[in-house]
Amino acid sequence: MSKKFPKQAIDLRNPIFNDEDKAREHLESVLWGPQGPTCPRCASYGDRVTKMAGKSTRPGVYKCKDCRKPFSVTVGSVMERSHIPLTKWVLASHLMMASKKGMSALQLHRMLNVSYEAAWFLAHRLRECPVKANPRPLGGKNKVVEGDETYIGGKAKNKAFGPPPEKAPVFALVERDGGHVRSFHVANVNSETLRPIIVKHASRKSYLMTDESRVYPSIGSEFSGHGTVNHSADEYVRLGGFIHTNTIESYFAILKRGVYGTFHSISEQHLPRYLAEFDFRYNGRHMTDAARADALLAGAKGKRLQYHQTNKAANA
Ligand SMILES: [Zn+2]
Repeated sequence: MSKKFPKQAIDLRNPIFNDEDKAREHLESVLWGPQGPTCPRCASYGDRVTKMAGKSTRPGVYKCKDCRKPFSVTVGSVMERSHIPLTKWVLASHLMMASKKGMSALQLHRMLNVSYEAAWFLAHRLRECPVKANPRPLGGKNKVVEGDETYIGGKAKNKAFGPPPEKAPVFALVERDGGHVRSFHVANVNSETLRPIIVKHASRKSYLMTDESRVYPSIGSEFSGHGTVNHSADEYVRLGGFIHTNTIESYFAILKRGVYGTFHSISEQHLPRYLAEFDFRYNGRHMTDAARADALLAGAKGKRLQYHQTNKAANA
């Protein structure tokens, strides 16, 4: 292998992208981890689980001794009952996680050689995977949390089909200096909608940085300190580089390039899933592409029900 081959890059020759058995074994190791096959119904594993063998059995099927039901790695996951080969699920997750601005359903449709509708559903099901389990608040003592709002959408080019969709407000918080981002689709931008998000997701021991919107002063007074920047006055950095919201603005720049460049327009209904995808990629930015893809896939389990929330109108 050439030394110039970037360590980050996905090796498309990896058999998990071409060999269905290898793809399934990869998913088994990512979803189940070292404890091995685990029943999706009663969480039994180890000697409570036997591998089913025999010519009439599909590969990768196990039987739980407790509930006496068979299962495979896709049962109870976003992949359950999918007709798309597991190799394509694994490849799609790697492509999405390796593309800084995301990958459109149209491009997945071409690269995976599946129908556009199948690619669209697959991508939305993968967007259900980021795990949001009881996260600790961002920031803390002597740390800075930047908060800012932006508006997504409303740029429909072809107005022959009606007025452009309304812009959807998005609020996001990021912990400065290598921390995580969390973004939220909000009904509108005011202190009633933003305060519950800010105090839940940012430690009040932090310094809060926002713009000069009237929404923030009372919320900011609950924090260790509150710095504000005046965007309209071209005032972006003050106090020796301490008072700014550049981190969250960079994040919004990636999000917007993705939304407008890759997805063209996304409906408000699906916006939370795209935000989850962009947050997850940003928060895993220090991982390799492959590790980030596996981290996404690890969240595929226990998500079967949420998939039904996906709207059938494959137009976002
Ligand atoms: Zn069971």
